[in-house]
Amino acid sequence: MIDFKISKDPKLWRQYDRKHIWHPYTSMLHPLPAYTVSSAHGVCLKLADGRELIDGMSSWWTAIHGYNHPRLNAAIEEQLKSMAHVMFGGLTHQPAIGLAERLVELTAKPLQHVFFCDSGSVSVEVAIKMAIQYWYAQGKTNKQRLLTVRGGYHGDTFGAMSVCDPVNGMHQMFAGVLPQHLFAPRPQRDDGKWDDVWIKDFKELLENNRNEIAAVVIEPIVQGAGGMNIFSAEYLRRFHRLCDENDVLLIFDEIATGFGRTGRLFAYEHADVVPDILCLGKAMTGGYMTLAATLASTRVAEGISADGHGVLMHGPTFMANPLACRVAVESIDLLLESPWQQQVNAIEKQIQKELAPCRQLPGVADVRNIGAIGVVETKIPVEMPWMQEQFVKNGVWIRPFGNLVYIMPPYIIEPEQLSKLTGAIYNVLEEWGQESD
Ligand SMILES: *Cc1c(COP(=O)(O)O)cnc(C)c1O
Repeated sequence: MIDFKISKDPKLWRQYDRKHIWHPYTSMLHPLPAYTVSSAHGVCLKLADGRELIDGMSSWWTAIHGYNHPRLNAAIEEQLKSMAHVMFGGLTHQPAIGLAERLVELTAKPLQHVFFCDSGSVSVEVAIKMAIQYWYAQGKTNKQRLLTVRGGYHGDTFGAMSVCDPVNGMHQMFAGVLPQHLFAPRPQRDDGKWDDVWIKDFKELLENNRNEIAAVVIEPIVQGAGGMNIFSAEYLRRFHRLCDENDVLLIFDEIATGFGRTGRLFAYEHADVVPDILCLGKAMTGGYMTLAATLASTRVAEGISADGHGVLMHGPTFMANPLACRVAVESIDLLLESPWQQQVNAIEKQIQKELAPCRQLPGVADVRNIGAIGVVETKIPVEMPWMQEQFVKNGVWIRPFGNLVYIMPPYIIEPEQLSKLTGAIYNVLEEWGQESD
């Protein structure tokens, strides 16, 4: 056995990791290389071999304030002295109450009720349960299906997976066990010219199946891991109106977009529409702990119990973990006290300007951006291990997938650091484009 407490040899660690530990979406037979990180500070990840990388990923949308933040550290340490965890059945605590208060205050007025979960996928499961239970309690037991759009990503558990894009969302392998939901075409950008034809299929699917549909599930404005697609706010207004007219609930999954990422605190603010149910996660704890929340309107929350005794059928073991809730409270306060809007706007302008030259590269199909998100889409899928290594050589942490090379850096990133990210994208794609000619 390697005693990891005393072994200083990163190579031994990596060998053990490779042999025994699954990483996200990897093979145990032919795993992609994983770099050992020894620490992280501000917007930098420090590798075990001493190299420092500027982080372009915010650890998958989460570390909005950067790493090792003194205030977030202090909040967790203080909470640790009173309690790390306590069950939430029959008990409550200040960190959960403080966090719920902030979520209710910051989100749209109708959203008054909070369910805490341990991850984003679970918050989507809970949102689906809420919608189905709501209609069940009204005696509409046929309303159990969901309508969504192509290109979405809502998580890896079965309920969440069933509304992910059916092509790139693992549906094929699990076709026999996944519930069959309804998919409208992927929403698109309008560039100032909306066309009603874009919503035609959605409208027909909704109207033709309204007696079976419990809810529409959508990532507002930006579809994340399903393809980094940015779409017109007009869709959200139409979705909202059509849901209202057809007695269908509207669920927004803001697990990726919430807490300022798109330039608004929540992406639904771009359209000024309010969902019945809202999923939050990722950036909620500033990247410190896993925690998510499902918020519901009073209509939904009370409707679930309309038959007199309906209880929401969910209750995770680590529900409302106090350490996670406490650091989420601190992260939200830190965000609101920071000039996050100016930071995100500045990042948006800089990304727009500095990624634009990528359009000229032969391998590039599209360049797009919104808020603190920048995306370069390539014509063919990139060679992951090669490209990953190139980025590391360029001193940045950018992890592409499929045809997408994208960044969503911490909001505290400095202009020169951001230029390093965008410059690395250009350089690496230029080299890759030449090689594949
Ligand atoms: C990441 C993500 C999820 C899943 O969250 P996990 O915490 O990974 O379970 C769901 N929806 C969206 C939009 C996401 O970006």
